[in-house]
Amino acid sequence: MIARIAIDGAASGRLFDYAVPPELAAPCAVGARVRVHFGHRAVLGYVVDLAEDSDFIASANADKKPAPVPTDLLLDVAPDPPKPALKPIEAVDGDGPVVLPGLMRLARWMAQYYLAPIERCIQTLLPAPVRSGRSREKIRLYVEAAEVAEGGETPKLTKRQEQLVADIRRVGGGWLQQVIAEFKCTAETVRRLENLGAVTIVERQMRRDPFANRRVVPSKPLPLNEDQSRALRLVLNGVSQAEDTSSPPPKPILLFGVTGSGKTEVYLQAIAAVLEKGRGAIVLVPEIALTPQTVQRFAARFGENIAVLHSALSDGERYDEWQRIRAGKARVVVGPRSAVFAPVERLGLIVVDEEHEPSYKQDESPRYNARDVAVMRANLEHCPIVLGSATPALESWKNVKTGKYDVARLSRRAAEDAVMPLVHIVDMRREISEAGQPRLFSQALLDAIKQRLDKGEQTLLFLNRRGYSTSLVCPSCGYVATCEACDIAYTYHRHDDCLRCHICGGWKRVADKCPNCGDPKYKCLGTGTQRIEQIVSACFPHARIARMDADSTSRKFSHDDILGAFKSGKTDILIGTQMIAKGLHFPNVTLVGIVMADSSLHIPDFRAGERTFQLLAQVSGRTGRGAIAGEVYVQTYTPDHPAVQMARTENFEGFADGELEIRRDLNYPPYCHLTCLTLSGPEESAVAALLERIAESVRDKADKSVIISEVVPASLPKANNQFRYQLLLRAPTTSRILPPLSAALAANRVPEAMRLSVDVDALSLF
Ligand code: ADP
Ligand code: ZN
Repeated sequence: MIARIAIDGAASGRLFDYAVPPELAAPCAVGARVRVHFGHRAVLGYVVDLAEDSDFIASANADKKPAPVPTDLLLDVAPDPPKPALKPIEAVDGDGPVVLPGLMRLARWMAQYYLAPIERCIQTLLPAPVRSGRSREKIRLYVEAAEVAEGGETPKLTKRQEQLVADIRRVGGGWLQQVIAEFKCTAETVRRLENLGAVTIVERQMRRDPFANRRVVPSKPLPLNEDQSRALRLVLNGVSQAEDTSSPPPKPILLFGVTGSGKTEVYLQAIAAVLEKGRGAIVLVPEIALTPQTVQRFAARFGENIAVLHSALSDGERYDEWQRIRAGKARVVVGPRSAVFAPVERLGLIVVDEEHEPSYKQDESPRYNARDVAVMRANLEHCPIVLGSATPALESWKNVKTGKYDVARLSRRAAEDAVMPLVHIVDMRREISEAGQPRLFSQALLDAIKQRLDKGEQTLLFLNRRGYSTSLVCPSCGYVATCEACDIAYTYHRHDDCLRCHICGGWKRVADKCPNCGDPKYKCLGTGTQRIEQIVSACFPHARIARMDADSTSRKFSHDDILGAFKSGKTDILIGTQMIAKGLHFPNVTLVGIVMADSSLHIPDFRAGERTFQLLAQVSGRTGRGAIAGEVYVQTYTPDHPAVQMARTENFEGFADGELEIRRDLNYPPYCHLTCLTLSGPEESAVAALLERIAESVRDKADKSVIISEVVPASLPKANNQFRYQLLLRAPTTSRILPPLSAALAANRVPEAMRLSVDVDALSLF
């Protein structure tokens, strides 16, 4: 028997063959962690596959030249090797596979699809403390009153000792530290009782509960409205269909419901049904810190049965949560993108909330999109999946249109009395100060804030600082410097004072004044939340103002503190970035101001319109969730842009129809798959030349359906003294891109000094 092993930390993207000694045949299953010799080192590896025979000889030769031979088929560089005996596997770690077989299949798919080394993909499946192989259980001493056998000798105790034993018995035992503190004794006293046989002290694993001390009030299922019931029925159909493994896996379901329409209640009831069947569920949320209320609602419904994978967990906490999931003690897992790999056996449902969120994409290798991985995992494990959003990604929407996904719609807000907010579009071209300068706040928005302050209601002010100050916008007429061939904003490159298109490589000199209206103030957009805070404080000196952005929330739970203060009414105005755009639910917020809607519209990305629509709809969704109707002010220089107009009524379908047409005409995703290569290195000409050679080899090997861009400097052309160049590949399917690309990469080795990132289905082109 042969085991194909991925070597931990090798970054070679290859599998190596080892012999399985007969005595290890049983534990050496797919997913097992093993110890092997690799070259001269003893290393950890994972069994990816088992085989009867080895075509390639690897490990036995690892300490001699030639180098180990790959058995992975992606990189086709294997010379014909001699065939000496294989090295044996030395030992198998623990009992049972560390990686569940279904997850191993998922890792192999990821390695192929995202062109990432298999061992990196396996690493990604496992939290660091699990991967290290060192148990980090927190062992504590636990004290219990000893059982006194029938007719046995009772130890002779003093009155005080007797009292202590009785106390310990009464509370059913406890941690030694706790006993000492509660019953006012010393460790020696307890030890003496142990020697007398009156108590036992044992080592026990203590669960480090990340949510300890955070009280959760249990909740009961709500009676569903008609839309919700229909959606739930559709999901439960999928759950039943999945039970029958001879039928095809159920179609993914897009739960398309406006903000506040009660999607979460549908998830909760679907999961309850899945638990009834003895199965488990995974719920992906964009970022736990940003969606504390959503997480609370899951905790409130499922109590101890829930495991939360928070990015702020300590290693120990993460280890414990992982073990609870693996042991089946927690059947519902809630977490951000990496939770898609949670070791849930008998998976009955996956939910991806806010499925359109770019934060599901990992920005290092493997650059996976957790939503897409979730769809794949559901398919491999024959389980239903629900993708929820008020503003679905156009990729998902297209899948609905072509019948790949089913759809369930929730078209009204669920809570009684809650209505959609009234949205005002404010044309900022008219808001000029006496000195002729453009203003950041319109009079209408300032008046509205003042009204709220007078009435004791709350305001959210939103500024999207993801926008870069690198696209040129005219403050008078709203003109944006745009590449006509590609219909995306030019990026302003400061070092050579020129506008560049990152799709076609075209460039243009910067005009002295606006080419449309002649205004000389034609310049960069760019204002951060801190500046907004300053202005608002000056306008409303008595208001209590808080700011929530990456700078103000670096501490653990600082999100909760800021949001807690806002919720309890200690803050009048909360200013924030996209952190405040999602999942929050504050009944007293009756006003939302979007300070600069354009900042996300003119990023040099063909998804700028889609992102803007999503943000505007999501932010607007934060208001009017209580009994008082909400108002939204959208300040913009381009009031007629479809993303702005359609977001006003949360008309996703109207927006999507128009946007899909543009994407089809220009051949952008979802009408093609887009892979983005970024090469960086210290020497600019070498970087550009190597990427040119790679582009050339892809061009040689790819068929005509693959569109290969020019090699251009990246939007961020230089970072940390590394020059960055970019190449975009587009094709109808990734299967047209991956083979020529992996061949091109095998033929053009990237030297140590340079770094290549391959981003399959890239979401951002920076
Ligand atoms: P979404 O996830 O679609 O944004 P939520 O699940 O947050 O919407 O629901 C919005 C509000 O409506 C919540 O306060 C929720 O408790 C309430 N809600 C949901 N379903 C119902 C229902 N069937 N009846 C009454 N209120 C509901
Ligand atoms: Zn262009």
